[in-house]
Amino acid sequence: MPMTFRNEPFTSFAGETEQEAFRAALRQARAAFGATYAPVVGGERIETGRFAASVNPADRGQIVGQVHQADLALAERAIRTAAEAFGAWRDYSPAARARSLYKAAAILRRRKHEFSAWMVLEAGKTWAEADADTAEAIDFMEFYGREAERLAERQPLARIPGEDNELTYIPLGVGVVIPPWNFPLAILAGMTTAAIVCGNTVVVKPATPTQVVAARFCALLEEAGVPAGVVNYLPGPGSQIGDYLVDHPLTRFVSFTGSREVGLRINERAAVHRPGQKWIKRVVAEMGGKDAIVVDADSDLDAAAAAIAASAFGFAGQKCSACSRAIVLADVYEEVLGKVAAITAGLTLGDPADVHTDVGPVIDDKAFAKIAEYIEIGKGEGRLVAGGSAGDPRGFYLLPTIFADVGRDARLAREEIFGPVLAFLRASTFDEALDIANDTDYGLTGAVFSRSRARLEQAREQFHAGNLYLNRKCTGALVGVHPFGGFNLSGTDSKAGGRDYLLLFSQAKVVSERL
Ligand code: NAP
Repeated sequence: MPMTFRNEPFTSFAGETEQEAFRAALRQARAAFGATYAPVVGGERIETGRFAASVNPADRGQIVGQVHQADLALAERAIRTAAEAFGAWRDYSPAARARSLYKAAAILRRRKHEFSAWMVLEAGKTWAEADADTAEAIDFMEFYGREAERLAERQPLARIPGEDNELTYIPLGVGVVIPPWNFPLAILAGMTTAAIVCGNTVVVKPATPTQVVAARFCALLEEAGVPAGVVNYLPGPGSQIGDYLVDHPLTRFVSFTGSREVGLRINERAAVHRPGQKWIKRVVAEMGGKDAIVVDADSDLDAAAAAIAASAFGFAGQKCSACSRAIVLADVYEEVLGKVAAITAGLTLGDPADVHTDVGPVIDDKAFAKIAEYIEIGKGEGRLVAGGSAGDPRGFYLLPTIFADVGRDARLAREEIFGPVLAFLRASTFDEALDIANDTDYGLTGAVFSRSRARLEQAREQFHAGNLYLNRKCTGALVGVHPFGGFNLSGTDSKAGGRDYLLLFSQAKVVSERL
């Protein structure tokens, strides 16, 4: 039995030794720039000759890697291969499957800086953000391994005389795993290993901007001894091969994390019964957010301001949990705004490969254009207090941007921007602040700063968010500590990193024997 689960500690980059170790990892990754990666189906590397370049968002001239792209024929082959591999993998004991996750976690722990360095260069993460991403990936594997072992234990049932009853959890079948680019390792690793540790086999369609990190992780699983065909790496544009994978009659479930648009599309398509399909497909869809931090008049304003700035601008606001609305009681509104603006002015925007950088670029040209458009919209909807323009044109840089006096019905207050843009909204009462916070299609994270027990209790009851934080920032969920998932159009509230998660990839079978 493994030791009790503990979160992987984050690396401190304060000392020169650790800094040099990380710089060495960055140099090593750069030396491998331009390498080619290919789909891996049934353990076979398949070169298609149709390449997509993965670009460093900090310097659009740098090609991180060239990735062979799958087409529909290869998607078909990947699903069939996963279906064939299912027959053997489902018969491995849960303990054996868990061991492959512990082994993968151990390898990743040994190669932590290597993977984090690739995320700096392919996703534009700062050192600390990349390190946290790698730590979370390790956590997911350690946690889900233990969860699989827990679910394999005899499950409690009421006993009746003359019968022996047993409930066991068995796998579903072939899953399609579709992760986003913003946690290129942690979310990819969590979604993939949760599915396989339950005995399912998967086709992993990585997010296009971070398909190199995904290729490296799938190779790591192979190194950890996951049999060929259990995890099939299938890079290719979601718009071209996504529907095919989702629609396939052999697909038993889809595990998706990404935008609301794509998540709803997948949910709709998966609901259609296809010829030859023997089940109702399961869809786990974790989607966007419009997360708010509410600041009460009596709260610790310095702590609130620090939390708002960290939640809004960490990883350039590209977290589903990022704070994009600060809803502040009128009495302290200007003071909090001033404090957040001051912290923001002190943030260093730049190349995340530099240890001193606080905010890096956004992921790609499409994201850059979309966020820049929201900044222009914001200029008509609010008062520009910080940022509002682009940075170094070599990369996809946008200055951390704050708009004050945004109305609750403004687009800036309602739509997910997914970039470093923060809207300040004024509330005249605490009731109104909570009402504004809930007045969105989403319900992912949120936070409240207050010293009043009554108001904190009110927020616990009334703030409709899957992950609500009191007197702390709204980002940085830890596996096992803060099971993560949202309400409303934020998704299916799957609570990744929690005790309910593996049930989504399993089905319960009850056997009753008359004695
Ligand atoms: P996205 O554009 O929806 O892409 C997500 C994944 O879906 C990618 O792998 C993408 O592939 C794929 N895809 C695109 N079209 C598809 C289709 N028709 N069928 C099947 N798959 C398809 O989202 P993103 O830009 O990567 O991620 C940002 C979003 O994720 C934000 O909305 C954020 O809030 C959300 N997010 C949510 C959580 C959460 O836990 N709730 C966590 C992280 C991120 P391509 O890259 O090839 O297009």
